Amino acid sequence: MKCPYCPSLDTKVIDSRLNQTGDITRRRRSCPQCEGRFTTYERVEEVMPLVIKKDGRREPYDRAKVLEGVVKSCQKRPVTTQAVEALVTRIEKKVQSYGLKEVPSRTFGEMVMSELQALDTVAYIRFASVYREFRDVEQFVAELQEPSASGDESSSMLFPFPSTPQEPQS
Ligand SMILES: [Zn+2]
Repeated sequence: MKCPYCPSLDTKVIDSRLNQTGDITRRRRSCPQCEGRFTTYERVEEVMPLVIKKDGRREPYDRAKVLEGVVKSCQKRPVTTQAVEALVTRIEKKVQSYGLKEVPSRTFGEMVMSELQALDTVAYIRFASVYREFRDVEQFVAELQEPSASGDESSSMLFPFPSTPQEPQS
């Protein structure tokens, strides 16, 4: 493993341990050349099925893309990065358990929605409204109002975007 601080290719593992679930190995490495220290993570490359797009094209599964959608929906919500990562991992595991070679992109969308619904209502609404492209607004709104029949609170939650105060980006 190449040293990130100098051109040396000869670095040594000084510590190696598994994470709690036993699927990631974390290695502390040190470079004898410059004495720099760094960490690497090793995990099994799991095989995800191809994703069938709406227009019928197939493309490789892209974890970053799914993560991005979830992260966007969870912006400024009390949802930790760990929770988001775990959510995506759960979906991947579930999809892998089907043992299929190809899975429609819709399946991922539906899975993200049901996961978000359990995690954070506002994030769920954001994701669902983007995902469903407001094609069936009325049905969607009706669905949202179903669990709590009290009208006043839910109306402020329906469109959380414009009222969200802008925080300075670092
Ligand atoms: Zn070095």
